[in-house]
Amino acid sequence: MARLRQIAKSSNEKLQVVVDKFEATAPRTAGKPVPLENVYAILPGADERLAKTVFVVSGHFDSRPSDAMDPQADAPGADDDASGVAVSLECARLLSQPGPDGRGSHRATLLFAAVSGEEQGLLGGTRLLEWLKQKGYTVGGMLDDDIVGADSEPSGLHRVRLFSGNGEIDDADSPSRELARAIEEIDGTTAIRMIFRTDRYGRGGDHYPFYKAGLPAVRFTEPLENYDHQHQTPRTENGVEYGDGLKYLNFAFISNVAMYNAEALRQLAMAPAPPNKVTLTGAVTPDAKVSWLAGDDRDRAGFEILWRETTEPRWEVYAFAASPGETVLKGVSTDNHFFAVRSVGKNGARSIAVPTEIASRPAPATK
Ligand SMILES: [Zn+2]
Repeated sequence: MARLRQIAKSSNEKLQVVVDKFEATAPRTAGKPVPLENVYAILPGADERLAKTVFVVSGHFDSRPSDAMDPQADAPGADDDASGVAVSLECARLLSQPGPDGRGSHRATLLFAAVSGEEQGLLGGTRLLEWLKQKGYTVGGMLDDDIVGADSEPSGLHRVRLFSGNGEIDDADSPSRELARAIEEIDGTTAIRMIFRTDRYGRGGDHYPFYKAGLPAVRFTEPLENYDHQHQTPRTENGVEYGDGLKYLNFAFISNVAMYNAEALRQLAMAPAPPNKVTLTGAVTPDAKVSWLAGDDRDRAGFEILWRETTEPRWEVYAFAASPGETVLKGVSTDNHFFAVRSVGKNGARSIAVPTEIASRPAPATK
């Protein structure tokens, strides 16, 4: 709180700090409502057309010892998840500095969150989503940073893992997956290791309630976790040290993760809104036809039609189109690629991609 207030001051008070008090009930609260608090720092979007779209970065400040129900044992929580809170605060600092003209270049709103109750059943993340809905925000993207403080993979490439779920409609193209692809494209393949999975097995995080609501939400986590140093009461047993202490953190790594988050947020919040009603027609004809809608935006240069082989993880640009409507992809079969469209700003920033949906699936022919 104190750190956010300090950052707000150096932002010429553009950054608004909010304490969101709420009550939550979960199996781990023994069915009783428990008072909790989330902290949000909000940087309002400079463009009124996009100010109700919000890009969120979040870490959780609660922590736990070996027994999640033991409130007495020491639970330093340096990696899980003071590291994620540090990333969120650092993004607030990096992105709230007044630009040369005294204004930020982001068009959409940015929200830097530190939430509670993660270890008790994602209570703070669930509340954050509810709060955003109540305030009438559209979630443009949610970046959850949880366990981003250490880099203990000795021979690894030191890339932060970026988890995104498959979604339930099409097994390759959920909004979360599109957000992951956008972040990887912005930060580069040497920075980001995309993992096409909602989370690690048997684990969860605050991106999950957003993902389940069909919103673009991803999780950043360090390359390889050391389970002696998370969810452990500090102690030494048989010469092995346990505990989530500060001394196991790698601050150069955390600051890189903060930069990757901040750069992704900066570019996404500068971009035009993604297109909507992105549709694919032309099945059983020689040409695929891609059509989409988009609101007026004088800062938009146009749209990129993307495609990829059905076996490929990443999009490539197929063509540019200046306006919404229909584009005919001459001689391109509907059946051999996936297709998507994204908006491109005059400033070069790109929205996340929106995959095509097939307008009406033709009945299979009998021969
Ligand atoms: Zn955590």
